Amino acid sequence: VIVGVARETAAGERRVALSPETCKKLVAAGATVRVQPGIGVGAFFPDAAYVAAGAQLAEDATADADLVACVQPPSNAAIAGLKQGAVLVGSLHPQADPERGEALRARGIVAFPLERLPRTTRAQAMDVLSSQAGMAGYKAVLIAAQLAPRFFPMLTTAAGTIRPSKVLIVGAGVAGLQAIATAKRLGAQVEGFDVRPETREQIESLGGKFLDLGVSAAGEGGYARALTDEERTEQQRRLAEHLKNIDVVVCTAAVPGRPAPKIVSAAMVAGMKPGSVIVDLAAETGGNCELTRPGENVESGGVTIAGPLDLASMGAQHASEMFARNVFNFVSLLLKDGALAFDWNDELLAKTVWPERAASAS
Ligand code: NAD
Repeated sequence: VIVGVARETAAGERRVALSPETCKKLVAAGATVRVQPGIGVGAFFPDAAYVAAGAQLAEDATADADLVACVQPPSNAAIAGLKQGAVLVGSLHPQADPERGEALRARGIVAFPLERLPRTTRAQAMDVLSSQAGMAGYKAVLIAAQLAPRFFPMLTTAAGTIRPSKVLIVGAGVAGLQAIATAKRLGAQVEGFDVRPETREQIESLGGKFLDLGVSAAGEGGYARALTDEERTEQQRRLAEHLKNIDVVVCTAAVPGRPAPKIVSAAMVAGMKPGSVIVDLAAETGGNCELTRPGENVESGGVTIAGPLDLASMGAQHASEMFARNVFNFVSLLLKDGALAFDWNDELLAKTVWPERAASAS
C-alpha cells in the first residue's frame, strides 16, 4: 500500500498528519510512504527526518497513493487529482461544503472524516477532536494571560500583595478542562461550568471550582444539547451577576453540528471590570461571546475580547505528533499484512466512513 501526504494548503495551517515517528511505524507495517517535500516545515519536522524514517520525497506524493492522510480537507482540485477509489483520512467535514462532498463522490474516495468517530473508549486513541482541543485550551489560557494587565498568581512582594486573578472557563469539555488545568498551574483562582452535570467532578479534580448556574442539559453521545429559551434565560441571569467579579473568561462551549451557543452577551461584557479579558476559543464557529470577531481582538468598555483562530496550529509540533498518532491508530485498523482491508463490522470504520454505506452493502 502506498501512503501519501501532501503539504497542507489551508491558510494558517501549520500541522501535518504524518510525523517522522508515525512514518517509521507505517513503513514497519509494510507501507510505502511518500511525502511532499516541506510537509513538516510548519511543525518543525525536517524532510530529512522523514527520509530517515523511511519515506520517499515526491512533489506529487499523493498522485498514486492508495491512502492519503491530511489535517484539513484537500482543495477540491487536489481531491480531483487523487487516485480513483483512494482512502482519505483526516478532518474532512464533507457536509460543510457540498462541492467538497461532490468532489469526493466523483472520485469514489473512501473518506474517513475522523471528526465522525464515535466517542467510545476504543476510539480515544484516534480522536483528533480531543487531541487538538487539548492544545487549543492550553493556548487560549496563555493568550489570556498574555493580554491581561494583571498577574494570574497571588504574589506577596515588598511592593505589597497582589490578589490572584479569577478565571472562569465556560464549557468543560476537552478544551475547557485543559484550560482549567493550565490556568490553575499559572496560579489563578479557577472556576468552570458546563451544562453536563458530570463535569462538576472533572472540574473539581483539576482543582477548579464548579460554578452552578442551575442548568443541566446532557444530550446524546456524551455531548450537550442546545438549551431551551427558559434554561438559557436562567443561565444568563446568574452568569451576568457572576461575571462582574471575574478577570478572565475562556469560552469553549460547543454543541455538535450547531453554531456555538451565545453565552456571554454584550450587556454582560459591559458589566465586567475594565482590564478584564475574554478569550473565545469557540470563535471558529461564531463564538460564545456576542462581541467576538473571529480572528480579531476587539475592545469594549475596557474589556478585551480575543477570537483566536488556528489555536492548535500555534502548538503545531505537539499537536501534529498527537494528530499523527491518532491517524496512525486509525489507519492500523485498515492495514492487514501491508494491504488495505475494511472490516465493516467494526463500528469505528462503519460509523466514520463517508459517504455512509448502505445497510445491505458488505
Ligand atoms: P464540545 O467541543 O462539543 O463542547 C465543549 C463543551 O461545551 C462540552 O463539555 C459541552 O457540554 C459544553 N456546552 C455546550 N453548551 C453549553 C452551554 N450552553 N453552557 C455551558 N457549556 C456548554 O465537547 P468535547 O470537548 O468534544 O467533549 C464532549 C464530550 O465527549 C465530553 O463528555 C467528553 O468527555 C466526551 N469525550 C469522550 C471521548 C471518548 O471517550 N472517546 C473523547 C473525547 C471526549
